[in-house]
Amino acid sequence: MNSTGSNNAAEAFERLHGVAPTGVWSAPGRVNLIGEHTDYNDGFVLPFAIPQRTWVAAAPREDGVLTLASGSAAVPPLRLADLEPGSPRDWTAYPAGVAWVLRQQGITGGADLVITGDVPHGSGLSSSHSLEVATALALLGLAETEASTGDVAKWVQQAENDFVGAPTGLLDQTASLCCTEAHVLFLDVRTGRQEQVPFDASRHGLEVLVIDTRVSHELVGSGYAERRAGCEEAARLRNVPAVRDLDTEAGLPERLRPLVRHVITENERVLKTVALLREDRYEEIGPLLSASHASLRDDYRVSCAELDVAAQAAEDAGALGARMIGGGFGGSAIALVPAGIRPDVERCVAEAFARHGFAAPRMFTAIPAAGAGRDR
Ligand code: ADP
Ligand code: MG
Repeated sequence: MNSTGSNNAAEAFERLHGVAPTGVWSAPGRVNLIGEHTDYNDGFVLPFAIPQRTWVAAAPREDGVLTLASGSAAVPPLRLADLEPGSPRDWTAYPAGVAWVLRQQGITGGADLVITGDVPHGSGLSSSHSLEVATALALLGLAETEASTGDVAKWVQQAENDFVGAPTGLLDQTASLCCTEAHVLFLDVRTGRQEQVPFDASRHGLEVLVIDTRVSHELVGSGYAERRAGCEEAARLRNVPAVRDLDTEAGLPERLRPLVRHVITENERVLKTVALLREDRYEEIGPLLSASHASLRDDYRVSCAELDVAAQAAEDAGALGARMIGGGFGGSAIALVPAGIRPDVERCVAEAFARHGFAAPRMFTAIPAAGAGRDR
């Protein structure tokens, strides 16, 4: 655990409230190695937790009030009993939404929460779910209530779907809750089956380079809900519970076929990636990452110019493969890069961004880190 991060959160709490917090909980952001837009189709995903986290320093209150502070942004206290979807609408909707869901589970006590974190916002690295998961663990911890990770994941999904209003699946919060150091999490979203697959790129002389395009997917009006609705329609038309159950897009209306083709081929790519990792054939994952990007760009149509330039420039500079991650329309890409040429890849990506007149991207090597938990 990152003790500096939890100390900072505890100190921020003490500065604001004049006493030490009861505890500090934290949850990481995530990178999804492969398996994009498959989670809400009951499919396969393969995320790992990144070292960047959100910390929640917390203490209970007796008056049914929730106070929230993040950085310098302290907001007016919220009465738990008054919370309803649609209010509030700013960043506080994420922690408030979690409190709203947990209240329905009988967690009715109020709390003071002070939030710190270093997961970039809107970068497709899931700062929102790290905030929601850390909040959920803090509120459950204060109430001394045990819950399974499956239940916490479901409650966080309810907060994000029903309170925040984002129709997201189970990938991000499950990754934040269940990932472990030095592993990718192979998750079958339909069955909930999980397997921790060892993932040590450095042992193979490789690095996973994250390229944050700094295009906030939040700001560009996401077509996420539209894609999701298209998949649900395809499943309905073919009389199956989810696109997971289809093995061809044939016979579907023209406009739905590329969506379904992406989900079918992406699920296959996840399974192939897991098989390659188990056999220590890391380099062969590269082409699967690139095929995933092409599928998201051409079939699912959720990429954008910056993500395409990032993936292409990384490959041109010698990356074994590269792809956009997250919902799309901005956010981050990853590239599988031989460690020796990482500086060259970074330079080429930066130069390509400058040539296109894009803002400078932010880049870092992502090493699988620990999942969520109580820090102190
Ligand atoms: P992503 O999850 O990819 O980072 P989202 O748009 O889903 O992007 O979530 C980003 C939003 O989450 C931010 O705009 C902010 O409202 C909220 N958020 C995340 N982390 C924090 C934090 N530490 N403090 C306050 N708000 C946060
Ligand atoms: Mg998010």
